[in-house]
Amino acid sequence: PYCFSKTDIIQSQDAQIHPMDIGLIRGYGIFDFFRTSNYVPLFLSDYLDRFIRSAEKTHLDLRYTKKELEEIILKLIEQNDLENGGIRMLLTGGLSENHFSPAKSDLFIFCEELLFPSPSKYEQGVKLVTADYVRAIADIKTTNYAYPVWLSAQWKSLNAEDVIYHHQGIISESSRSNIFVIKNEEISTPSEHILHGITRKRVLELAPRTSIRAITLEELMKADEVFMTSTTKRILPITTIDESKVGNGKVGPFTQQLMEEFKKMEAKHTLH
Ligand code: PLP
Repeated sequence: PYCFSKTDIIQSQDAQIHPMDIGLIRGYGIFDFFRTSNYVPLFLSDYLDRFIRSAEKTHLDLRYTKKELEEIILKLIEQNDLENGGIRMLLTGGLSENHFSPAKSDLFIFCEELLFPSPSKYEQGVKLVTADYVRAIADIKTTNYAYPVWLSAQWKSLNAEDVIYHHQGIISESSRSNIFVIKNEEISTPSEHILHGITRKRVLELAPRTSIRAITLEELMKADEVFMTSTTKRILPITTIDESKVGNGKVGPFTQQLMEEFKKMEAKHTLH
């Protein structure tokens, strides 16, 4: 496979990063991740906008325009014959003289195999566990996922799919997904301390009456339906939180309908 490394497209195995890059020693860098569907980079413009915004907000110099990034990506899809795959863009913090201040960043763009959750998870829903945590600079897609990577041993031991964060009684998001809550036929999604997911944005288009607001942990635990959204999960139903069932413990009708509508929207975007 080929990747983009710093200035050129090269063999992925030849890509190199300096071990003292503050992306590694300080966890300071940004990334983004999207997928191709039928060779089309799905919702690419939105992901590029977010990546560019993350670079600006972290004071990292991307040195490539949106148009240039798009051209590199289309070339990589062709060279790697990436019909249905993931594409990861990474901008490092750079090799810093004082090992702390952002310096000259390196850009990498990698193609990956996609791992979707199994069909049974969409049919039965999954379990999440709650954890008191709030992400710092939450709306920037930084490479710092130290807390959830560390926590994953715990949620796996509890047979959970992932975590849901709450702090001072207010929920925010899952480790790599956004959250939607349905109660009495009303859909809501958290407004603060979240990454603005591209999948979330699309679901908001499908469900324009969704209320975007602070949602309490108590509301979450009393919801009729809960689901999570992300690039690799699309819409994934949540039927257990900690040791309680969500609603009747089955995938609810609103979630089911949105799952179907999302698939249709995706198909419409990937027709040639
Ligand atoms: N929240 C966080 C912290 C994430 O890392 C991600 C995705 O990686 C999301 C939400 C979901 O965003 P998207 O739908 O753009 O994949």
